[in-house]
Amino acid sequence: MTAQIIDGKLMAQQLREQLAQKVAELPTVPHLAVILVGNDEASIIYDRNKQKAAEAIGMKCTIHHLDEQTPQDQLLDLIKQLNSDSSVNGIIVQMPLPKHLNSEQIIESIDHTKDVDGFGIYNIGLLHSNNSSAMVAATPQAVLYMLQQTLGDVVGKHAVIIGRSNIVGRPLASLLLNHHCTVTIAHSKTVNLSQITASADIVVAACGVAGLVKKDWVKPGATVIDVGINRVNGKLCGDVDFENVKEVASYITPVPGGVGPMTVTMLLNNTLQAYLEQNQREQNA
Ligand code: NAD
Repeated sequence: MTAQIIDGKLMAQQLREQLAQKVAELPTVPHLAVILVGNDEASIIYDRNKQKAAEAIGMKCTIHHLDEQTPQDQLLDLIKQLNSDSSVNGIIVQMPLPKHLNSEQIIESIDHTKDVDGFGIYNIGLLHSNNSSAMVAATPQAVLYMLQQTLGDVVGKHAVIIGRSNIVGRPLASLLLNHHCTVTIAHSKTVNLSQITASADIVVAACGVAGLVKKDWVKPGATVIDVGINRVNGKLCGDVDFENVKEVASYITPVPGGVGPMTVTMLLNNTLQAYLEQNQREQNA
């Protein structure tokens, strides 16, 4: 068996076309504010990509690029100003922040209705209590969307997620549980990981260990989603041994060209959601 490749680039392009149509019909332009502190090269590239993607579907995206030494208070002041600016619909702070800054306090200072990264505790609480108004982090949403597009639905499937971070593993576990999967979360201290993944209908690798998931870790016919982004000898690769795992899986995502492009698209989708909900609230007020 050779797996069918789940083409994240194509899926993202199709979804972005749908988003562009919706944005074109709005009376005003949704606006995403991105805060970038310092000069981390990868972060600068990520944020430029977000801006390009937003502008390509007719959204506005402003990058607030602050000095590496920016003090906590100055950053909090900027967020306060963006929170009260009604022309701004979504706010994200690019992580990781320089070490002198308190990321938790920064994230919690973002108005939860503008928290389009879904990293704040309020939105996490909504997600964990299966409340549909939760703003859900983009990567878990991208994974769910790709699974639904590929499998139809995920009801009753056993999903094993490798990784328990706050931005991928944990919110994804809640999201899949809310969609009636049976969910196992594995992590760096999990014993017999390969046996656990071999029992899964869906394996999601989100651990940042290049090529960790091997062919004999995967049940024949399973679906494999690779969230990992690693650089080995200058080349991008995921957490799955793609060339060999694709011989046993039914469906598999590549790296690059899998979850990555879908993640940016889901961030834009969240910005549109935030815009619509803010406008609805204004009309009801
Ligand atoms: P993280 O470092 O915060 O968390 C990694 C998790 O993997 C931890 O919970 C850890 O317990 C687990 N882990 C580490 N080694 C393991 C091992 N040998 N066996 C089992 N579990 C192990 O990372 P993160 O922010 O969740 O990101 C994970 C990966 O996904 C990274 O490669 C990151 O670059 C990538 N990522 C991709 C996207 C995207 O859009 N494609 C978005 C976010 C993160």
